[in-house]
Amino acid sequence: MHRNHFPIRRQKLAEQFGEHKIDAFFVTSAPNVRYLTGFTGSNGQLLVFPDEAYFFTDPRYRLQSAQQVNCKITIATGPLWPRVLAVLNKRKVRQLGFESHHLNFWNYQSMRAAVSLKTELRSVTGLVERLRITKSPEEIQLIRASVETNSAAFEQAVKAIRLGMREIDLAAEIEYRMRGLGAQKAAFDTIVAFGERTALPHAQPGPTALKRGQLVLIDMGAMREGYSSDMTRMLHVGRAPRKLREMYDAVLEAQLAAVAAVRPGVTATQVDQTARKVLRTAGLDKLFVHSTGHGLGLEIHEPPRVGRKDMTRLAPGMAITIEPGVYLSGFGGIRIEDTLVVSETGCEVLTQTPKLLREI
Ligand code: ZN
Ligand code: ZN
Repeated sequence: MHRNHFPIRRQKLAEQFGEHKIDAFFVTSAPNVRYLTGFTGSNGQLLVFPDEAYFFTDPRYRLQSAQQVNCKITIATGPLWPRVLAVLNKRKVRQLGFESHHLNFWNYQSMRAAVSLKTELRSVTGLVERLRITKSPEEIQLIRASVETNSAAFEQAVKAIRLGMREIDLAAEIEYRMRGLGAQKAAFDTIVAFGERTALPHAQPGPTALKRGQLVLIDMGAMREGYSSDMTRMLHVGRAPRKLREMYDAVLEAQLAAVAAVRPGVTATQVDQTARKVLRTAGLDKLFVHSTGHGLGLEIHEPPRVGRKDMTRLAPGMAITIEPGVYLSGFGGIRIEDTLVVSETGCEVLTQTPKLLREI
């Protein structure tokens, strides 16, 4: 991401200050700090004013912050908070917005005790997330690269599947391939489940060894230059039985219907309802126990939530997943997931990996 993007993002953030009656905003969420400054380290906080931004970190990041961050930088030995406080007092902040969904209670109490009684602390949620929900063309390129890396790693890993291999072996293979192809890491803990364990929507790979006749669920995402991808595919060792094929076809139909429903102006919940309706017709809606999808970007789960309640209207540039699934305990589960981006007229499915139930 070019350094010029960050002052523009901070400016867009400051344009929301009036609406929230704040004169400065204290950013503590790491992905939000990264979005506003480009800083990729683990310990950084940001204080944004309409005319200036102050970045705080510790001496481990002296060099890195000088390379990445283009606003005022303070290197604090010890806790960052006293240095933040000094700026707040110097600038006589009256109304300070803070991220109540990221600042923990202990830090809030220390902040309340330290700032002047004249300073009002205002809980503001989702201010930066609101900006992040629509991706710039540069961000979409990064997500696209992440998706391509992910799909390439999937193909390599599928070739390495052997009978007797454990779920953890396949998960390790996937993450190794990802890194070999240029990912920094997996965007989330890779999910690999065999047989009946596919009925666990978020199965943790374990020692289960692959046997003939088993279903394989792989849910994986690469992180590339900070941006995530997310994909779920199903395989079957040998010919899949009819009941499984029918379940698969119903989930695929729901997935394709939901993808077809994605376009600007449609609400996230309408897309969710589209997938649910298809599964209801197939008598499988009771087995669909999660949302149809989620936004993704710097984080693997971001707004909007493509679920029952989210009334967000989709707009060009939003990156989301579509991933309906059905889970039948004692039998197995099916999920099919793609990463896509809302376009001017509909959407572009970034994930190119074929969506058939692959028999190996
Ligand atoms: Zn996933
Ligand atoms: Zn997902």
